[in-house]
Parts: sequence; structure tokens; C-alpha cells
Amino acid sequence: MEKGHPSKERTFVAIKPDGIQRTLIGEIIKRYERMGLKMVAIKIMVATEDHIEKHYTLDPAWRTVTGEKTIASYKKKGLTPPSEDPLEITAKILANLKTYMTSGPILAMVWQGAHAVEVVRKVTGGTEPLTSDVGSIRGDFVLDSYSMSDTDNRAVRNLIHASGSVDEAEMEINHWFKPEELIEYRLVQEQIIYDVNIDGILE
Ligand code: ADP
Ligand code: MG
Repeated sequence: MEKGHPSKERTFVAIKPDGIQRTLIGEIIKRYERMGLKMVAIKIMVATEDHIEKHYTLDPAWRTVTGEKTIASYKKKGLTPPSEDPLEITAKILANLKTYMTSGPILAMVWQGAHAVEVVRKVTGGTEPLTSDVGSIRGDFVLDSYSMSDTDNRAVRNLIHASGSVDEAEMEINHWFKPEELIEYRLVQEQIIYDVNIDGILE
């Protein structure tokens, strides 16, 4: 398949420390694998706080967007957000994320396939487990909410990180992996998923 083909899209996924402690590695990988995505990189590691802060701030808009998303979610439920200032909210979230994401090993992965970023986000589910769709990983396997994590002054525990856009994915893959850690190979099933002629099956 030539470079730039849709089947070459890649996304960064990390099973967070709570996902590993909940022994959900196999369950989570199964969800992405069975869609037809191909794992092209994987490693287990303990991240530093500095690495986590850089990861979340690779996108300069993350602080504003995440703060605004939190405020909107509180208001949608008829609740008062902890602050009206998105940046004040994300300063706290970031500090709590450093504690959360360095509390134990995490599993960093790169998945490749058509619409990899979008389909991984779909199967992973929305950020807040309380409102994540039933059937999504976050919807099916976690109990948590912004109001509970704010009461306890901690990050929302939602098992997984998944890149939010193709640009974010590219930055995150470079942040977590060296180019030589990404394996280029063919999966037999790609013949069925992507081959234009779908031939060579019948004997
Ligand atoms: P996502 O992981 O779905 O892309 P964000 O990029 O908005 O979500 O936020 C990054 C992570 O920060 C979330 O996965 C979650 O662990 C944590 N988080 C986000 N918003 C809040 C919040 N309002 N309160 C506590 N933790 C939060
Ligand atoms: Mg995000």
C-alpha cells in the first residue's frame, strides 16, 4: 500500500495505570484488534511527570479546550463548575494527571489502519466514564465522573489515553516512540480489508 493511503493512518493509545491494575490489557487490546487495526508499536513503561506534562501540552490548545469541555459538562448536568476560568481548571487537572499517570506502569501503543484516530476514539468512548456510551471501553469498564474526581481532587480515571486528532497522534507518537520502534509489516487480513480486487480466495 503506497504512503499516504488511508490505511496508513496511525494513532497513539496508552493504557493508563488504572487499566493495568484492573487487569484489562487483553480486553482493551482485543477491542482495537478485532476492528481490523494493526498494532505497530508497544512498550510497557513508567513515565516521568515531565514526560506526562509534555504529552498533554503538545497541543497548545489543550489547556483551553479541556477546561471548556469540563465547564460545559457541569452546566449540561445543571451543576456549577469548580471555576469559570478554563485555564484555572486545567492547571489543576494537569497537576492531578501527573500523579495519576506516573502512579504505575502504563502500556504505550501505536495502532494503524483506516480512520485509526476516529475509530479508536469511538470504541474508547467519551472522556467522562459517567457519560461515555454503553458498549465503549470507558462506558463498560469504569465508574467515575468529573464531580467525584473533583470532590477528591484527582484526575478522572478512565483507563485509556487515545489521540484526539491526526495531528495530535503524530506529535504523540514522536513523543513516546523512536522511529525505529514502529514496525512496518503486513497483516494477512489486510488483503480482505483493503485489497481493491478481493481476489485470490477461491481455489
Ligand atoms: P481525553 O483523554 O478523552 O482526550 P482530555 O484530553 O480532555 O480527554 O483530558 C485528558 C485527561 O485528563 C482525561 O482522560 C482525564 O483523565 C483527565 N481529565 C479531563 N478532564 C478532567 C476533569 N474535569 N476532571 C478531572 N480529570 C479530567
Ligand atoms: Mg485528549
